[in-house]
Amino acid sequence: MATYYKENTLIYLNGAFVKASEAKMDFYSQSFHYGYSVFEGIRSYKTVNDETRIFKAMEHFDRLKASAEALNMPYTYTTEELIDATYELLAKNNLQDAYIRPVVYAPANMSFNLNTESFIVIEVWEMAPFLGDKLLRVMTSTFQRPNPKGFKIHAKAAGHYVNSILASHEAKGQGFDEALLTDMNGCVAEAPGANVFYEKDGKLVTPGLGNILPGITRATVLELCAELNIPVEEKMFVKEEMYGADAAFFCGTAAEVIGLQSLDDKPFIMPWESTVSKLIQDAYKNLIVENKQELVNEISGVE
Ligand code: PMP
Repeated sequence: MATYYKENTLIYLNGAFVKASEAKMDFYSQSFHYGYSVFEGIRSYKTVNDETRIFKAMEHFDRLKASAEALNMPYTYTTEELIDATYELLAKNNLQDAYIRPVVYAPANMSFNLNTESFIVIEVWEMAPFLGDKLLRVMTSTFQRPNPKGFKIHAKAAGHYVNSILASHEAKGQGFDEALLTDMNGCVAEAPGANVFYEKDGKLVTPGLGNILPGITRATVLELCAELNIPVEEKMFVKEEMYGADAAFFCGTAAEVIGLQSLDDKPFIMPWESTVSKLIQDAYKNLIVENKQELVNEISGVE
């Protein structure tokens, strides 16, 4: 099993910095029993001028709030205070390239009644930028994503991830690298922990919002397409439309932008290096370590 913390690793727990090895939570928490908590997956990177920067910090902590509200969890934190606490936590743990995992969880409660308070923990651990060039072999899962009429599918809720785990187990059990799940109508939705795009004739296509987690990386890719004049369409489509496309990729905070080799053993036909998907991968690579000040200077015309 992976080790996420050492003897002296600190976590942020309800306003205090405490040792992970000594921190406690209530085993009677409604979150533990019913998967009723919300969380985020965030990354920080060491930028080109050696600063530590949390990538899309506001977007992630705003989504944490939106997820908590979608699940009727009391939420009293501000995005600003949580961003400040996370920078402090990274510094205390001497981390720059890291994965950041805030979780908002419920008090002891075995009933299905509303709670009057929530708790928050933020954990950080080292994670080097991935930016892998290994292409993934992916299979369409027999599991569908949860029906949005049964769940608040736009929320990043812990319980949804039982579905992700089942799909990933199935794919890996059959010798694939990862799964691709459809929605309840059989249209392509997303990977267990990432969004998906495919490329055809220089244009990118991605499932529209509604049955997927609205990924922050997905939104970043859409912005990069606009900047790079790459045409992109959001629409519903079936897996057969992806078969034999020029290229495809998954994108997410942890996965970053990672190319697919094949879907259901049907290869994507262009060499990855010559696709617009690769351009997006490179642009994303640059963005995450970019020096903000240089950007500001560029915009204001200062050299
Ligand atoms: N879909 C699912 C199911 C996910 O778990 C994730 C990872 N948070 C994503 C998409 C990608 O979201 P993001 O780009 O915000 O990390």
